[in-house]
Amino acid sequence: AKSEGRAMFRFFEPQMSERLEARRHLELDLRQALQTNEFHLVFQPQVASADLGLAGFEALIRWNHAFRGAVPPADFIPLAEETGLIRTLGEWVLVEACAEAARWSDSIQVAVNLSPIQFKDRSLVATVRRALAESGLRPGRLELEITEAVLLQRDDVTIAMLHELRALGVRIAMDDFGVGYSSLSYLRSFPFDKIKIDRSFVGDLGQSRDNVAIVRAMADLGASLGIETTAEGVETEDQLAIVRGCGCTHVQGYLVSPPRPAAELPALIASLAAG
Ligand code: C2E
Ligand code: CA
Ligand code: CA
Ligand code: CA
Repeated sequence: AKSEGRAMFRFFEPQMSERLEARRHLELDLRQALQTNEFHLVFQPQVASADLGLAGFEALIRWNHAFRGAVPPADFIPLAEETGLIRTLGEWVLVEACAEAARWSDSIQVAVNLSPIQFKDRSLVATVRRALAESGLRPGRLELEITEAVLLQRDDVTIAMLHELRALGVRIAMDDFGVGYSSLSYLRSFPFDKIKIDRSFVGDLGQSRDNVAIVRAMADLGASLGIETTAEGVETEDQLAIVRGCGCTHVQGYLVSPPRPAAELPALIASLAAG
């Protein structure tokens, strides 16, 4: 068994180092991409579930690599978090999203995702203030989406920063609600403005009566707290009807529109306003 183990080790070693190598390359590319600006934002509508009226857009980052092509955020955000590059990247997203939103009508919000790592930097609050000041965006039009990972440490500094952000007039949404360990208890630690119900609950609403009950409970919870509830990942008319029936105030998903580049937003805004 011992020699077998050694043989296994020899067998796996090249693969391991290949993976590390690939990761190192991706990291170098990521640093490079920050300098050459290979990133852009796409925007996905969030609409009222009652009449599908446009409430705002969620900004989502895209990386178009010269050779790799489109690298999905799921592949590079974790790496950016491990390497700390997310600080620069996240700042770019904030500034860019606010600048873009300032071009839209004053009734349309913009939502920006914040990584837990960004909260390790107290200057995050100043960055948000600067993004608002430079763009002239009314603070109430900016919504910051955080996951419970931000609150995992439950440290007072994070909570204090959330209150400082709130004091600027921006809104705070809890993203991916329901998938974590203790989503409910995190609702007690900060007065969120919105709950975003994770798309894993919405995906099989048609097949799972349990999921319908759970989505209804989450929408009821939001209503009791007097805050908005957005159902994420709504792809079909059936899902729309169900989440509407459950009392979710807003919906987001491919049924309304996939995320679109900034250049396509005027047409999208016009078509959504027209109903
Ligand atoms: P998220 O914040 O939960 O964003 C929603 C994701 O669901 C997006 O994937 C969006 O394109 C996708 N989506 C929207 N509607 C549907 C639908 O109807 N069906 C399905 N199957 N998917 C739908 P995306 O853009 O690939 O982003 C993945 C994740 O990467 C995001 O999840 C977020 O956690 C992270 N991310 C994206 N942009 C940023 C960013 O600027 N900063 C940070 N920190 N994270 C980001
Ligand atoms: Ca999000
Ligand atoms: Ca989400
Ligand atoms: Ca997510």
